[in-house]
Amino acid sequence: MEKLSLRELSEGLKARKFSSVELTQFFLDRLEKYNLSINAFISIDKDKSLAMASRSDSIIKEGKQDYLTGVPIAQKDIFCAEGWKTTCGSKMLDNFISPYDATVIRKFNEISAVNLGKTNMDEFAMGSSNETSYYGNVKNPWNIKNVPGGSSGGSAAAVAAMLAPAATATDTGGSIRQPASLCGLTGLKPTYGLVSRYGMIAFASSLDQAGPMCHSAEDCAAMLNVMSGHDSKDSTSIEREKENYLNGIKDPIKGLKIGIPKEFFSEGLDPDVEKIIEQGINEYKKLGAEIVDISLPNNHLSIPVYYVIAPAEASSNLSRYDGVRYGYRTKEYDDLMDMYCKTREEGFGDEVKRRIMIGTYVLSAGYYDAYYLKAQKIRRLISEDFSKAFKKCDVILGPSAPSVAFPIGDKKEDPLKMYMQDVYTISTNLAGLPGLSMPAGLINNLPVGMQLIGNYFSEAKLLNIANVFQMNTDWHRLSPKGFE
Ligand code: GLN
Repeated sequence: MEKLSLRELSEGLKARKFSSVELTQFFLDRLEKYNLSINAFISIDKDKSLAMASRSDSIIKEGKQDYLTGVPIAQKDIFCAEGWKTTCGSKMLDNFISPYDATVIRKFNEISAVNLGKTNMDEFAMGSSNETSYYGNVKNPWNIKNVPGGSSGGSAAAVAAMLAPAATATDTGGSIRQPASLCGLTGLKPTYGLVSRYGMIAFASSLDQAGPMCHSAEDCAAMLNVMSGHDSKDSTSIEREKENYLNGIKDPIKGLKIGIPKEFFSEGLDPDVEKIIEQGINEYKKLGAEIVDISLPNNHLSIPVYYVIAPAEASSNLSRYDGVRYGYRTKEYDDLMDMYCKTREEGFGDEVKRRIMIGTYVLSAGYYDAYYLKAQKIRRLISEDFSKAFKKCDVILGPSAPSVAFPIGDKKEDPLKMYMQDVYTISTNLAGLPGLSMPAGLINNLPVGMQLIGNYFSEAKLLNIANVFQMNTDWHRLSPKGFE
């Protein structure tokens, strides 16, 4: 059962091969058996999940089943879910029970999918290894000595170890695609504005976007069908007609123009990863795609630009955690200022503090022009590189991350090394474009992700291109040993 696709689960529920309660119980049992070894979840609430499953069963009986009705889905702990502890991986929110649902959660509730639990993550989604979580690091199911990637490492580990059929995740600079890459999954970061950010705890608002983390492109399409859509509660949500991402997912890709950016194949890329991406390119050639060389000349500026803009936005977003309204408050203090300071000193971890300090610095009156304004200008240049590239090709292909999963502790003390994990993903967020990572091979039994970047709102096309690859290869079907 743990290996069934979302379509197979949906069909099984419809044909009453199993009920949602049985299916949910099955995954809860797996959670009990395996979660301790990988630490993928922060909150599990069996009674709540089973109550939701039982409601789903009644809906299925009434014949009102939607594709994902009754299917258990793991939710990244960045999404507010009514009555659930919602921590964002931080001590600051350790006591926070959300009084409302994020729009993404509401959409899953509306079709009566089951919330299987809240997944572990880097604190406030800042990190690439899940080592900044207040709840301890997550382990990579492919090798538990290694990191699963981050910040959506809990979602990635949960799906890779088959503790959940699918999960939600978020991506501000790579947090869906890099963990998907390191855990052998298919993950999609949609176009900025396609999925509502309402109730999704803010890190860097102009970059944050939610998306699915699954075994296959087809599963991602089914998840995106639920997650996407306009929301009046998010002023950056785009008003456009809702698509069915499963339509056309099998369309032939003959004649497709795939752009290969030379900047994605330069220093810093593990030569073994490069070989696997080249095999992927050859597979696409066999499938009838045409390969064209392109250039993204400002890509090398994307990490420095991101580490000005994202901390600037984070420092503003995180000012709300002051011990007054909700969340953690220090126990003993002299006056109001002392309370603010101690609360933030004790409630935030080191990486979050580092970002707040960088953010307030680059926004300060004396440095705003030199850093923040300049970064915004370069951000525009990075977007323009993509516009030019899409005149020559339909989709861009490259690695998702420079290496396979690295050992826990390896980069923790060196933030610059850690930041390099997102060198192929961050420019997509800066431009607001959609990007997908899918498994394309193994190195020493560790998965390698291949990335596809599309033009705005080309999710259906990206999922189609990834699905055709998956119809002809088996990389996405491999699973780590020890979780059978
Ligand atoms: N690794 C990047 C960071 O630490 C991206 C994180 C994300 O996408 N949420 O900021």
